[in-house]
Amino acid sequence: MAETVTNWTGRNWAGNIAFAARELHRPHSLDALRSLVAGSARVRVLGSGHSFNEIAEPGADGVLLSLDGLPATVDVDTAARTVRVGGGVRYAELARRVHAAGLALPNMASLPHISVAGSVATGTHGSGVGNGPLASAVRQVEIVTADGSTVVVGRDDPRFGGAVTSLGALGVVTALTLDLEPAYEVEQHLFTELPLDGLEFEAVAGAAYSVSLFTDWAAPGFRQVWLKRRTDQPLADFPWAAPAVEPLHPVPGMPAVNCTRQLGVPGPWHERLPHFRAEFTPSNGNELQSEYLLPRPTALEALHALDAIRETFASVLQICEVRTVAADEQWLSPSYGRDTVALHFTWVEDTAAVLPAVRKVEAVLEPFEPRPHWGKVFRTPMDRLRGRYPRLDDFAALARELDPAGTFANAFVRDVLGD
Ligand SMILES: Cc1cc2nc3c(=O)[nH]c(=O)nc-3n(C[C@H](O)[C@H](O)[C@H](O)COP(=O)(O)OP(=O)(O)OC[C@H]3O[C@@H](n4cnc5c(N)ncnc54)[C@H](O)[C@@H]3O)c2cc1C
Repeated sequence: MAETVTNWTGRNWAGNIAFAARELHRPHSLDALRSLVAGSARVRVLGSGHSFNEIAEPGADGVLLSLDGLPATVDVDTAARTVRVGGGVRYAELARRVHAAGLALPNMASLPHISVAGSVATGTHGSGVGNGPLASAVRQVEIVTADGSTVVVGRDDPRFGGAVTSLGALGVVTALTLDLEPAYEVEQHLFTELPLDGLEFEAVAGAAYSVSLFTDWAAPGFRQVWLKRRTDQPLADFPWAAPAVEPLHPVPGMPAVNCTRQLGVPGPWHERLPHFRAEFTPSNGNELQSEYLLPRPTALEALHALDAIRETFASVLQICEVRTVAADEQWLSPSYGRDTVALHFTWVEDTAAVLPAVRKVEAVLEPFEPRPHWGKVFRTPMDRLRGRYPRLDDFAALARELDPAGTFANAFVRDVLGD
C-alpha cells in the first residue's frame, strides 16, 4: 500500500528549492516500495528535505519517494553494539532509542532533525579532529535498486567506498547498520572572543572531543568557541578566550533556549553533541547555507584569506562556523582521504543577494582545493570539482553497475558524473 499524490509540488526545509514530481509516493511496506521502484523510469528519494540545493530533485517527469510511511525500524543489537536503522528514520529518534539501550553514536551533526540516510548520502558531519563524518559509523547499507531487488553492501565489500555517501544515485537506501559504543556524557563549555591573530588552530581544534568556532566576520576573530568535552576524557585548559557566563545561540539575536544545555552541565551524548534541540527550530530557520571542506593544514591560511575579504560578504552572513572532520574513505565524501577543516556559512534567506557572496568565498578559497558540502549552496562548476575526487571514476562505475538505466540519476547526479 502507498499514498500517492500526482503532479506534486513542494519545497525543501529552507524553502529556496521548489520540487515538482509527476508523483510523490509514500509506501507503507518494503514490497510496495519495491514495486513502485520497479515500475518507475525516474526515481529520487526525499529524506527530511534539509538540503539547500537540487540534489533531491526528481525532475518533473520523475517520481519522488518519501520513506516516512515505512516502519521506523531502529533495531539495537546490544551484544554486537550495532543498530539497524530504517531509511526514513531521523537522528533524533535513532539517538533516543540507542541511548535507551545504554549505547551511543560516535558523533552527531548540529541538529538531530535530519534523516540518517539523507545525511550520510551527502557527507554530513559534526566536528572533532578524531571524528570522521557521520557516514564513518555505517558498516552496512541495504539498497533497493531499479529492478526492485535489494543489494546489501558491507564494509568488506570492495564497493563499500561508494555505497554510503552516494548522493542517492544508487537506489533507495532502505536500511543502514551503524556501529555503536557505550553511552557517554558530554559537557559544553563555551568561550567568547577568540582573536584570529595568533590563533593556534591545531591546539584550539583539538581542545575537546568536538570543537566549533563561530564568527560573523564583522571583525577578525571568533565571537564564540564551543567545546564539547566527553566526561570520560580529560578537561583541557583553554587559555585563549574567556568562558561564557550565560547560554548562547551561535546566530546573533536568536534565543539560547533553542540550543542544547551549556555552561558545563554534563548530559547524555545526544543532548549535547547537536547544537540545537530536537523540539526547536534549528539554526535560524530563515537562511541558506554553504560549506567548504579543505585540507586541515591550510586552516589558518584559509581563515586569513577570508578575513581579507570579509567586508565583501559579511553583510549577507548570519554566522560562519569552523569545524574539523577526520579523513574518511567514502569516495564521494568531501573529507575523503584528507583531515579536514570545514568552513560553514549560514547566509540570509535571499538567493540573489547570497550568490555573489558565495562566488567571492569560493574564489578566495580556490587555492585550497575546497570540496563543497553536497547538500548546501555552491557554484563551483563540477568540471573543477571532479579532479578533487580521485575515486570518482570508481563511483561512476558502481552507479553504472547498480543503476544501468540511470533511474536514480537526476540532473545533479549527472553533472557530478559528467554524463
Ligand atoms: C539547519 C540545518 C543544519 C545543518 N547542519 C549540518 C551539520 O551540522 N553538518 C552537516 O554536514 N550538514 C548539516 N546540514 C545539512 C544536512 O545535514 C544535509 O543537507 C543532509 O543531507 C540532510 O539530510 P536529509 O535527510 O534532509 O536529506 P535530503 O535533503 O532530503 O536528501 C539529501 C540526499 O539524500 C538522498 N536520500 C535521502 N534519503 C535517501 C534514501 N533513503 N535513499 C537514497 N537516497 C536518499 C536524497 O535523494 C538526496 O540526494 C544542515 C542543514 C540544515 C537545514
